[in-house]
Amino acid sequence: MAVSVFDLFRVGIGPSSSHTVGPMRAAADFAARLLAAGGLEGVRGLRVELFGSLAATGRGHGTFPAVLAGLEGIDPERVLPAELDAALARIEETGRVRVCAELCDAPREVEFGIPDIVLRPLTILPTHPNGMRFAALDAAGEPLAEETYFSVGGGFILREGNEAAEVDRIESAVAEQPYPFATGGELLAHTRSSGLSIAGVMLANEAALLPEDEIRDRLEHLWRVMEACKDSALERTGVLPGGLEVRRRAPEWHRRMRERDPDRDPQFWQEWINLVALAVNEENASGGRVVTAPTNGAAGIIPAVLFYATHYAPGAASWSAAEKRAVIADFFLAAAAVGVICKEQASISGAEVGCQGEVGSASSMAAAGLTQVLGGTPEQVENAAEIAMEHNLGLTCDPIGGLVQIPCIERNAIAASKAVNAAKMALMGDGSHWVSLDQVVATMRETGRDMHSKYKETAMGGLAVNVVEC
Ligand code: SF4
Repeated sequence: MAVSVFDLFRVGIGPSSSHTVGPMRAAADFAARLLAAGGLEGVRGLRVELFGSLAATGRGHGTFPAVLAGLEGIDPERVLPAELDAALARIEETGRVRVCAELCDAPREVEFGIPDIVLRPLTILPTHPNGMRFAALDAAGEPLAEETYFSVGGGFILREGNEAAEVDRIESAVAEQPYPFATGGELLAHTRSSGLSIAGVMLANEAALLPEDEIRDRLEHLWRVMEACKDSALERTGVLPGGLEVRRRAPEWHRRMRERDPDRDPQFWQEWINLVALAVNEENASGGRVVTAPTNGAAGIIPAVLFYATHYAPGAASWSAAEKRAVIADFFLAAAAVGVICKEQASISGAEVGCQGEVGSASSMAAAGLTQVLGGTPEQVENAAEIAMEHNLGLTCDPIGGLVQIPCIERNAIAASKAVNAAKMALMGDGSHWVSLDQVVATMRETGRDMHSKYKETAMGGLAVNVVEC
C-alpha cells in the first residue's frame, strides 16, 4: 500500500481535482523541473497541449487558468481563492505568464494566455484520457524542455517515463509500512492477525510516516477546512459561475432548516446532510477551497456523512473535544483504507471509469468511515463499503456544459444518503455477505473499461447532450 490518507484527502481548489488541481500541479512540476535544470534563462515561449477529456471539458472545469497558474508555480494546496483570482486577472490583463514566479526571485515572463493553449479533444494518449504536454521554447521556437503528464484522478499526476511512481504521491511510497494492503481481503486479514480495527490498521501504516499526534492534527485540520468550506457556501448567494445560471441553493435551504429544525431533531438528518453536500459542492463549483475527497466533483459526500457522524451518532451531543477528535480521525482513516482499495484496484477518475469511480468511491469510503465510528467490526465496515459501491455501479459522468454542477451537486447529496443507508444495513448484519468489496471494486473497474468514452467526462453524452443549455 503506497497511498496515504493525506494523498486521498488534500486541500485544494475547485471545481475539479482531475481537471483543475491535477493540471495545476503538473504545470507547476514542469516549471519546477525547468528551474532545477537551470533552463529558465533561455525560455522565450511556451507550448501547452491538452488531450482527451482535459481538452473536451477543460473550459467548464477550470483547466486552462489552472495550467497558467501552475506555470507560475502556484500550489493548489496553499493558494487562497482570492490570491489565485488576482494572479489570473494579472495574466489576462498583461497576456503574460511569469514562469516560476512562486518558485524563485527571477521568474521568466513570456507571452502566453488561454487562447494559446492547444486543444486536442479527440486525441487520447495511451496512458490516460487526461493528457497534457508542456514545452518551453527558445527564441527560435525550438523546445528547450518538454514533458508529458497525466492527471489520473483525485489530483494525482503521472509524468511520462515515470508511470510507476506518481509525481506527487507523498513519502508513503518509500516508507516501510507494517500492514501493506491493496485489496479488501488483505486489509481484513491484517485486522484479524493484529486485532486492530480498519482505522487502526490504517493509522499504524500512517505512523510509519508521521508521529501519531501530527496525523491526528492533520486530520482535524482537514475536517476544519471541510467545515469552513460549507460555512463559506452558506454565506454566498446568486448563481454559480460558468453560464448555466445554476442558482446556489444552500443559503436558502440553511435558513429554512434553522426555522424548521432549531433543536436538531434526528428525524431531519437527511435534510441536513443534503444541505452539507449541496453547500460543499456549490463552493467547489465556484472555484472555492475544498478538501479533495477523494476528488473535487465528489467532495461533498464525506463532509456530509462526517456531519451525520458528529451530530447523530449515539452520544455525539456530549462528546468531549478529545472524543470528537478521535471520531473524526477514525472516520477519515477507515474511509481512506477503502479509498486505497478503489484507487489501487480500479480508479477514482471520472475520465477513466465514469462517475462510479468518483461519487461511487466517495460513497463507499463514507460508508466505511461511518460504520467504523458507529462501532462496526472490520467485516461490517467492509460490508458497508461494498454495499455503497455496489449501488453506484454504472454511474456515468455526463456533466452539462462540462461544468461540475449538474448532475454533480445533487448527486453528492444522494450518494451521501446512500452511504448512511449502507452503514445502517451493514450494522444490522454480522458482516457476512455475498459480494466482497474486492469483487465490487473489480466490477467497477471492468464496467468503467466497457463504458463508452462519451460517458467518461467528455460532456459528449448523457445529460450533457440531452439537456439543452440556455
Ligand atoms: S458527473 Fe461525477 S465524475 Fe463527472 S464531473 Fe460530475 S461528479 Fe465528477
